Amino acid sequence: MDVLYIDLDREEFKIKDRHDLFDRYIGGCGVGINLLQENCPGGVDPLSPGNPIIFAIGPLTSAFPTCTKVAAMFKSPLTGELGESYAGGRLGPSIRFAGYGAIVIKGGAENPVYLSIHDDEVFFNDARSIWGISSSYTVGKILRRLEPAPGRRSIIRIGPAGENLVRYANVNVDTFRHFGRLGLGAVFGCKNLKAIAISGSKDIIIPDRKEYKEAYQELYDVIVNTDSLKKYHDYGTTINVNPLNNIKGLPTKNLKESCFEYAENISGEHFAENFLSRHKACTGCPVGCIHIATLQIPFSEGFEFETRIMPYDYELIYALGSLLGVPMAENVMHLIEKVDHLGLDAMTTGTVLSWATEAYEEHLISKQDTMGLAFSWGDSRTYLKAIDNIVKQPNEFYRALAKGEVYASEKYGGEDFALALGGLGIAGYHTGKANIVGHIGAPRHGHLDNAGYSLDQKALKKPMTPEEMVDRLLEEDYWRCFVNSLVICLFARGVYTEERVKKAMESLGIETERSFMEIGEEIFKLKYKFKTQEGFNLQDFNVPRRFFETESSSGMLDEEEITHMLGLYRKRVDALIED
Ligand code: SF4
Repeated sequence: MDVLYIDLDREEFKIKDRHDLFDRYIGGCGVGINLLQENCPGGVDPLSPGNPIIFAIGPLTSAFPTCTKVAAMFKSPLTGELGESYAGGRLGPSIRFAGYGAIVIKGGAENPVYLSIHDDEVFFNDARSIWGISSSYTVGKILRRLEPAPGRRSIIRIGPAGENLVRYANVNVDTFRHFGRLGLGAVFGCKNLKAIAISGSKDIIIPDRKEYKEAYQELYDVIVNTDSLKKYHDYGTTINVNPLNNIKGLPTKNLKESCFEYAENISGEHFAENFLSRHKACTGCPVGCIHIATLQIPFSEGFEFETRIMPYDYELIYALGSLLGVPMAENVMHLIEKVDHLGLDAMTTGTVLSWATEAYEEHLISKQDTMGLAFSWGDSRTYLKAIDNIVKQPNEFYRALAKGEVYASEKYGGEDFALALGGLGIAGYHTGKANIVGHIGAPRHGHLDNAGYSLDQKALKKPMTPEEMVDRLLEEDYWRCFVNSLVICLFARGVYTEERVKKAMESLGIETERSFMEIGEEIFKLKYKFKTQEGFNLQDFNVPRRFFETESSSGMLDEEEITHMLGLYRKRVDALIED
């Protein structure tokens, strides 16, 4: 597969055949981590043009159902080490049909630019007129009128948060999808890169149509004609609100509590009954798990209603709902809309604001810091103003919030209740020890690296020793490194068994002698090498006290046991790296 290298400094590009990488590391994060290592100078400032951006797809992209995602790799401005994020939409197919397996973007433009990539051509367009627009949705609307190939193209862009280098700014992909975590939007911003439009007209070569059809049909049948993915279509991940609340796993009010008295009001069922207006799907996916809500609000006297639309899912509802004590779905939706238009990671915005609320309660910060805002649980109006301030950064306090809760708590105090693990604001689970160890140990510190939250829930039914838990976390880490090198949607990971993946790959003429687990383990190791080179050390991380003060789904957690598990995890990683 070819890699497109774009140099923003010189406004030049070149295309290189890198089958060496794709043959060994498949695609996605496997190829991405190698390209990152090749192009990222050790110790580079993540908010400098020297920080490269890598996008990579996989060999199954667009050829099989739910193979829709794109891996983005970069150095994270939030954690200062590995940045890795995934998004769907139309981006994967657009990269594939333009003829590339990956794109590497280096350097920075002197003035704001947006890139148009259409097949073998790359245009460097003046973006000064769209820089500074208050909503990433509006930027999308403008570029849709300017760029060719409607229906086949993808448009990705940053909002004001990325322009202003908020360290957890996201990148909006085709309006309803995002590279959400770890601050890719700020890396775009520091390069003066506002947006990318990409389309292509090339084909996928299928060597044996009969074999391909068989492999495709088998996967399609399981996805469409069984219940395996039905729950994602019907309610989506929001179906988790009530069950997690029932087992004391729903972080509430900065995890002072683990169940929320108003959970029902923000549950998936409530959203579906009152606000769900349509489902959307990433291109090439028959599931359609993207839930779009419509909110009608009175426009002004004499007029009828203004209609607002926004995507929603569990993590957004947790971070901007229960975590902030916001009891009404409508108010959560206003917050979702705000972060979406400004281009912020919703989860980190939630953990930052929940830290700020408790810091305000504890008198660690004052109205002088907040510029008159009195943070209090559930007060979504104040949160809306605070989010604007995080993006605009009018004073030292908001500049600190724009750097995340770890930085802000080091400066103002309250480290014991800053809800970050491994430097990243937590996802919506207080399920137990596997979740905590999983977050800290995982290469990108996300809940989707090894699904510790799910392991905790399994352990509730069948108890596991700490050793077993660490083994299973690492196994999942390795396996997901492989799945993320194919860049399959993780919702469909159960459908893509080893046997079916093998069949699918072979039908496209791709053979690999190594086992998939072996490949995953090697990719995990490469990610850890990058992390270590950039200063990450598993020994440096303490678990904030708050995680031991509030009852989890597994009861009160024991700090010593978690320290023991982190030690086991570290030993295994050290042995792997030295190997
Ligand atoms: S299941 Fe959802 S996120 Fe996954 S590919 Fe389909 S629409 Fe996209």
